[in-house]
Amino acid sequence: ETGQLQQSLPVPETPTEVNQLAISFNQLLTSLNDRMQREHQFVSDASHELRTPLAGIRGHVSLIRRRGTEHPEIVPDSLKYLDEESLRMQHLVENLLAISRNDQLQLDLKPLDLTELLTIVVANYQHQTAHKITLKLPKHAEALGNEDSIRQIVLAILDNAVKYSPDDRPIDITVVELDNATALSISDQGTGISDADKAHVFERFYRVDQARSSKIPGTGLGLAIVSQLVALNHAKIAVTDNHPQGTTFTITFRK
Ligand code: ADP
Repeated sequence: ETGQLQQSLPVPETPTEVNQLAISFNQLLTSLNDRMQREHQFVSDASHELRTPLAGIRGHVSLIRRRGTEHPEIVPDSLKYLDEESLRMQHLVENLLAISRNDQLQLDLKPLDLTELLTIVVANYQHQTAHKITLKLPKHAEALGNEDSIRQIVLAILDNAVKYSPDDRPIDITVVELDNATALSISDQGTGISDADKAHVFERFYRVDQARSSKIPGTGLGLAIVSQLVALNHAKIAVTDNHPQGTTFTITFRK
């Protein structure tokens, strides 16, 4: 939308052109208006998400103040809560900053070898997880993209695969070279995502109910950030069922 704004409008010469100009102007205003509404909604959702842990933190500080001296046994539990909730806020703020930074970002895209990149990323990641990660990669896999952002995309999807599948289930990474594109798939054998939820998982703050109610920590921003980064790479992302169980995320890069 902002791209459209920067284009200078052509000077009208005939009444039809004036009409056309009026039409594009209206379209531009409508899209700007939509964008402003989305931004407004985002700020309001973000404030709400920050308010909840903050209220809990203030509650426990006040509890320690009032009762901590007489009942020191309550202190460790409250400290644990303060620790967890402040960490949650920290993640949230970091994710919010990432979203706002990415919004302004333009990436330098270069031809790179996905096979090489994934081999390194996964070798490092394998140390920090109990899940077995398998790689099915061609010898070389050419793709157009930005290394650092692709690393972030892969790590975020791996983090989710780890969070939403049992430790003893593998995570499979496959790269397939197509004619004009290269497809990277990451599959887990976890809880899966219903079709209704698939339509929403890339939205900001969206968490499937099960994830919300279970104790799995998260902000609902991970996949929103992934989808921003995918767009910055001029790539596409899709989510499908993995058979017989779990979820597959497929990113298709240009080459
Ligand atoms: P979160 O911080 O909650 O993990 P994300 O934006 O990364 O946020 O993901 C949004 C929601 O999509 C998650 O809350 C979870 O319900 C669902 N989800 C994401 N990845 C997976 C997966 N691999 N398996 C099952 N559910 C997933």
